[in-house]
Amino acid sequence: MTAHPGFPLEASPIALEERYGAHNYHPLPVVLTRGQGVHLWDDQGRRYLDMMSAYSAVSFGHSHPQLVEALVAQARQLAVTSRAFHTDKLGAFVQRLCSATGMDRALPMNSGAEAVETALKAARKWGYTVKGVPEGRARIIVAANNFAGRTTTIVGFSTEPQYRAGFGPFAPGFVTVPFGDADALEAAITPDTVAFLVEPIQGEAGIVVPPAGFLRKARELCTRHNVLLICDEIQTGLGRTGALLACDHEGIRPDGLTLGKALGGGLLPVSAFLAREDVMAVFTPGDHGSTFGGNPLSAAVGAAALQLLEEEKLSQRAAAGGETLMAELRALGHPAIRDVRGKGLLVGVEIDPAFASARVVCEGLMREGVLTKDTHGTVVRLAPPLVIEPAQITEAVQALRRVLLSLAR
Ligand SMILES: *Cc1c(COP(=O)(O)O)cnc(C)c1O
Repeated sequence: MTAHPGFPLEASPIALEERYGAHNYHPLPVVLTRGQGVHLWDDQGRRYLDMMSAYSAVSFGHSHPQLVEALVAQARQLAVTSRAFHTDKLGAFVQRLCSATGMDRALPMNSGAEAVETALKAARKWGYTVKGVPEGRARIIVAANNFAGRTTTIVGFSTEPQYRAGFGPFAPGFVTVPFGDADALEAAITPDTVAFLVEPIQGEAGIVVPPAGFLRKARELCTRHNVLLICDEIQTGLGRTGALLACDHEGIRPDGLTLGKALGGGLLPVSAFLAREDVMAVFTPGDHGSTFGGNPLSAAVGAAALQLLEEEKLSQRAAAGGETLMAELRALGHPAIRDVRGKGLLVGVEIDPAFASARVVCEGLMREGVLTKDTHGTVVRLAPPLVIEPAQITEAVQALRRVLLSLAR
């Protein structure tokens, strides 16, 4: 291997990333080398409490022994075959996905964005072939401040200028309504509307919880107007908000559902689009696919993750942990904290920007041995692995208290 002149290969990992990597992230200055449960360790041997769990992908904690075992055993046996053949793992995985969520059928993909793209394709084709929308006219309604991934179609319906700037032209066929506004949703529905795509709680937007009853109203409107309700639960699903799906809090079932993040057990990228029978039926062989989607390794780990979720009662633990976390955060009563919001272990703490940026608070937390990341500059995201213990929640809140005190000085 040849090093670039003047740039030794023994340079620090951060320097190497800076020099050779694309600068599409701005990580905190810490180099992680190991993870176990709710803890991470850096290259100096320093231990941190993980209060972000890889944007909710590590709900089970780092390297959960049961999931690592499933991964290693399957990797030794058979890892990747493509969908050109059946395997002995895919059937059990999709069955478990459907029985856990109450959906009829599942289509496995890898990343969350791919699951959302799958949902968009399904909705459009359902619109043309089942609902009878004239070819080329299908419209999908989305919510302002949505986040559904980074593909060109998806950023095309984002309302966040930075996600879009420089990446157009974008795919047409999307209409935006304010998040949590059922009247605006109803007003936007036309005979060409095929779907409403929505996060039950907006994660990347800053942990934004809609008014109670919004999802139920959206469900009623979609049913009345023959529009598919597609819930993007890539972040809120699989126990994160204190129920298996965030939809469960309002007792509703969507027509389409995207899952990802925690579905891979914190070990692999595994996602899925789930739907009711007549929606999934639009896909026929050759319509859609993915080289890695549904591979035996992903299927084995995904199935083990779903099983573990039940066995360890992680939804219940997230509900209880979330109550503790929000109560302790509110009890801090610090004037710089403008709002504490969320559900289960998906919590956002809004920091008064006149006091400090959320980024500066996260840097302070890092020095206190707690890792998390801000969202949108003003919100500190607190979304630890669902296996976190009450004492560890208190530890994180006390670290935040110390950081806010030190910043006030
Ligand atoms: C993270 C996320 C996605 C995208 O998932 P990727 O795996 O990063 O492509 C989509 N929707 C929501 C709600 C998410 O939080």
